Amino acid sequence: MPTPRIDINLSKIAHNVKTLSSLFRSKGIDIIAVTKGVCAHPHIANILVKSGVKILADSRIANIKKMRNAGVKATFLLIRTPMISQAESVVLDTDMSLNSELSVIKRLSKFSILHNKIHKIILMVELGDLREGIVPSQLENTIKKVLTLKGIELKGIGTNLACFSGVKPTAEKMDILSAIAISIEKKFHIKLSIISGGNSANYNWFKTTKDVGRINNLRLGESIFLGYEPLTGKPIPKLYQDAFMLVAEVIELKNKSSVPNGEIGLDAFGNKPKFKDQGIIRRAILAMGVQDVMVTGLTPKSDIEILGAGGDHIIINAKKEDLKVGSEVSFTLKYGALVTAMNSSYIFKNIITPISAKEYCAIVEEKDRLHKKKIAIVTVKEDHSPLISLQDSDFNLIFEKSIQKNYRYLVRKGVFEKIGRISKLLDNQGKKLIIRSAWRSFEHQQKLWDQKASYMKEKHPEKTIEEINEIVSKFIAPKKQSTHSTGGAVDALIYDLQTKRVLDFGTNDGLHIDLNEKCYPKHPDISEEAKKNRKLLMKLFEDEDFVCDHKEYWHFDYGNIGWAVEKNKEYACYGVLEESFVQSAVLSYPDKVFFYL
Ligand SMILES: *Cc1c(COP(=O)(O)O)cnc(C)c1O
Repeated sequence: MPTPRIDINLSKIAHNVKTLSSLFRSKGIDIIAVTKGVCAHPHIANILVKSGVKILADSRIANIKKMRNAGVKATFLLIRTPMISQAESVVLDTDMSLNSELSVIKRLSKFSILHNKIHKIILMVELGDLREGIVPSQLENTIKKVLTLKGIELKGIGTNLACFSGVKPTAEKMDILSAIAISIEKKFHIKLSIISGGNSANYNWFKTTKDVGRINNLRLGESIFLGYEPLTGKPIPKLYQDAFMLVAEVIELKNKSSVPNGEIGLDAFGNKPKFKDQGIIRRAILAMGVQDVMVTGLTPKSDIEILGAGGDHIIINAKKEDLKVGSEVSFTLKYGALVTAMNSSYIFKNIITPISAKEYCAIVEEKDRLHKKKIAIVTVKEDHSPLISLQDSDFNLIFEKSIQKNYRYLVRKGVFEKIGRISKLLDNQGKKLIIRSAWRSFEHQQKLWDQKASYMKEKHPEKTIEEINEIVSKFIAPKKQSTHSTGGAVDALIYDLQTKRVLDFGTNDGLHIDLNEKCYPKHPDISEEAKKNRKLLMKLFEDEDFVCDHKEYWHFDYGNIGWAVEKNKEYACYGVLEESFVQSAVLSYPDKVFFYL
């Protein structure tokens, strides 16, 4: 993947816009999505429309044309007061505009008549931020004239705060706008259908107000894309702050002094730089600079520090991060960084598209087919490491009851140690690892198969044996094909000591798991909570070099053929251990923790 690039996660944008829409809708407010912050990227515009947004707004006609030409289906609102010189294009290329100058509106009227169109306008009212807007005392006068203009439809009024002067959209300001709307409707006997109270900065007003008055519309950009409330810079609950991630590559990494050596003049931008003496530090240079992005608006994802930037370089203190030349470093973005990055022709726009459940399952099943093919040709160099019972450990574990009598939850020594470390990490989070299953004999595996098959037969008496076997084989391996027979496979879940419940993984009710396609680890149609919990479980095991099964989020392999295939190893080190083998070991060392082979 090229760098520098901006990773654009469309699912996260969709989540944010849907969450905000339903939040504001709860008090009768519709939202307009403002696309200027992302240069009206058509894929982003389309996901906004797909998520239910009806009106898209941009400050530039060129951006609106770009979306139109790309086939984006929406009503388009021009939010920067139109240039009088562009009046014809406003009428032809947009559906609606925010306005504050009568001379411009007159011109819009002229071209509307010429092209036989009706152009809708929202009049902006100045409430203290001192950017665009008609001062309230002049408003009635303007409206009187606007109402006489042909080809112009007055849709409503609006205001914009928290931009030029950072004036907060307080309850007082919103009440003034409501009062103005009411008085205009009364005076002119008209209905204003849109009362647009502002932008993302209206979030705190909305959350704290009991009565939104006549405000029924907001124009949101920043909060949809970045999940922040702009006045305080605080994250908005339930929203993603990382729908956009900027990625740059390390081109140099060396231990160097933290202070320069020589007489200091002005730097490349005419500023006198300052340095903090931290001794010798690990300095990395990234191939990205202020020519690409507003570097002051970047927040590193990892524990590094931005020391400064030039046109083409960002210098960082790499601290203890595991970086080398060629490594990628990721940043989340503030609004200024987002706008500049999206506008930079040097930054590759990497659109990450949401994938439907159907597409995802098809991919998983294809991968699983390939995996099974490859498994057949993996060789095993048995390392003869012993099986150990997890029940004999002093790790904090919960054992799920097994259908196998006297089940001992045996795993290989390497796996045993890994489980120990995982359980310690969970101890620190007030959670416990649940071990569902570990080494299984062929007989045990057969029992699982038979149990599932008879359950399915009861549920679907109309199905043939072949059909039943087909369904069961989706989730349970035939007796001799399960990696559980190696002692390198573990089935695990997590218990939360605080809520005293098994975490929600999306297909489970406590310990009971419904076997269906939603068990595929990254299935898109499970709750955010379930996704988070699966991520936690998978990260714990993957950090210990396990691989998660393609189809079961609870099944992890290490050392066996399943692992060897996924990790591209030359051979596996844990082969199949048969019942008789393990039994004889148990019999000869009945009081031993280790079952040597
Ligand atoms: C940019 C802009 C918005 C959107 O502001 P955000 O802070 O991105 O939500 C709304 N209205 C007008 C007039 C704007 O210029």
